[in-house]
Amino acid sequence: MKSDKLVVGNMKMNLLASDVSLYLKEFHFDEQQDQVVICPSTIYIPYFLKQPYKVGIQNLFFRDKGAYTGEISVSQAASLGIDYAIIGHSERRIYFKESDQDINKKIISALKYGFHIILCIGETAEEKGLLKTARVLKRQLLNDLRNVEKEFFSQIIIAYEPVWAIGNDVTPTMVEIEETVQYIKGIILQYFGYEDIKVLYGGSVNSKNIEELNQIPNVSGFLVGGASINAEEFLKIIEVAVKK
Ligand code: PEP
Repeated sequence: MKSDKLVVGNMKMNLLASDVSLYLKEFHFDEQQDQVVICPSTIYIPYFLKQPYKVGIQNLFFRDKGAYTGEISVSQAASLGIDYAIIGHSERRIYFKESDQDINKKIISALKYGFHIILCIGETAEEKGLLKTARVLKRQLLNDLRNVEKEFFSQIIIAYEPVWAIGNDVTPTMVEIEETVQYIKGIILQYFGYEDIKVLYGGSVNSKNIEELNQIPNVSGFLVGGASINAEEFLKIIEVAVKK
């Protein structure tokens, strides 16, 4: 029986054009896979759009058009047929100084164009050490989703990505993930009145830990970074999370 989990690959700023053609050959499905989303570097997106899975963009700018050199607008991404957008990834928050206010503007704009939003939230190692995880997650959720109407929540997916677990083979315990996901769902219900929010886990998911992570009862899927760049590895993760 197929599960209804979503598996999202965040390829970040990886692969050269020659790698992409090989990846496309290896990352292959015989039938349409709507529970698989690939977010390649933006310049490669047109190649992925013809494939039997969904495509997401790793970032968007909230203004519709104009003199914003180097940016991609929500309307441009929508006009290509891109379905998903990762917003608020910790690498954008940390390296590009994106604030909760910027993230909120991007979300409001992308929702209007029908995007499914993958909103990334998570605490740093320092915040965890200071026992601030709950406070940080609540602040991010309330500020990033400020003024989002309840009717749009079916387009929103939260990715819980502890910053300290990204790209380093360290993950929280199963119980920690389960409890944090429950906390996130509780915040969404309490402050936005929405009961069915999907929460993904992200941070060092790979083919070795996916069987275990996949047992966490309230997790709706996974956001996979480094392991999504290797087609074989990513297919193994999908095999467990989507097909079991
Ligand atoms: C990410 O950056 O979204 C991520 C989950 O990375 P990784 O899987 O490499 O930890």
